[in-house]
Amino acid sequence: MSDVMSSNEKVHNLVIVGSGPAGYTAAIYAARAQLEPIIYEGSVTAGGALMNTTEVENFPGFTDGVMGPDLMDSMRKQAARFGAQLITDDIVEMDLKSPIKVLKDGSDNVIRAKAVILATGSAYKEIGLENEKRLSGRGVSWCATCDGFFFRDQTIAVVGGGDSAMEEASFLTKFASKVVLIHRRSEFRASKIMVERVLANPKIEVLWNTEVTDVLGEAKVEALQLRDTVTGSESKRDFTGLFVAIGHIPRSELIVGQIDLDNEGYVKAEGRSTRTNLSGVFACGDLVDHTYRQAITAAGSGCQAALDAEKFLSH
Ligand code: NAP
Repeated sequence: MSDVMSSNEKVHNLVIVGSGPAGYTAAIYAARAQLEPIIYEGSVTAGGALMNTTEVENFPGFTDGVMGPDLMDSMRKQAARFGAQLITDDIVEMDLKSPIKVLKDGSDNVIRAKAVILATGSAYKEIGLENEKRLSGRGVSWCATCDGFFFRDQTIAVVGGGDSAMEEASFLTKFASKVVLIHRRSEFRASKIMVERVLANPKIEVLWNTEVTDVLGEAKVEALQLRDTVTGSESKRDFTGLFVAIGHIPRSELIVGQIDLDNEGYVKAEGRSTRTNLSGVFACGDLVDHTYRQAITAAGSGCQAALDAEKFLSH
């Protein structure tokens, strides 16, 4: 029987759901404030999106950069050091409307708490093609660091024009013989430094004004159907892999109908705070952030959420 189960009727101060930079930072602050937080890290997603990245060059304090998983591991240990209770499981149900919040985890434990911080982050966005789903894991991937190794000496495509696509394309040149970066417009939205790195890489070819309209292949990816977004002309080109890096969607599916979301599914926070429309429920990180979506801004908003929760609990 787990600690949480044995304290079934106990009302905890604070449960944090999600464990990227936002969740772990909230846990560090809440634990230091002696709120004895429980943090649900997720069963397969513990550590969040940074677990799938390589080097993070722009997190302040690391002169020579830091690997995403190492950064998350340090934050995790820092939270544990101050007494946060880390649980590697998912929250599968939440009732957040009553003064005492009731959550159920993936092992059927029921947890009650006076306050909840939501830090569930975001999930990879899909292009939305039927064959993209069908061939997922058979040449279609959303994670170069996870799957790049399988594409040694092959010609692969990366879709997207943001920092993620630049990062994936650059990383994949370690393995692939050629990476073709497919973008639907004629300019990237990624940061200048990352674009310059991509354009200077002889293994990367850019296909501007192009979208993927189908993924072809029976048992695995063999080719992509492409459409020129300016002329509308269609073409087919052979690839053995497709990496989709077109952004993320907020992981708010568990709280739909309970909490105010905007029309893209992000949790609405009051002004510059992390307060939601529900008393005692706070939200931070990519779940609320349309705009910045950096590891450092997520960590900053996790800190704010813990301070907001602490203030709420002290009243
Ligand atoms: P993003 O900045 O939202 O870029 C998404 C890209 O995908 C855009 O270029 C967009 O095209 C394209 N796109 C969206 N939907 C599409 C569709 N259905 N079909 C084809 N293309 C589509 O997302 P991101 O690159 O994942 O970055 C998210 C945030 O994380 C950003 O703030 C970024 O700075 C940050 N990030 C930082 C780093 C780093 O600093 N090391 C690394 C990764 C991510 P349009 O341009 O035409 O809209």
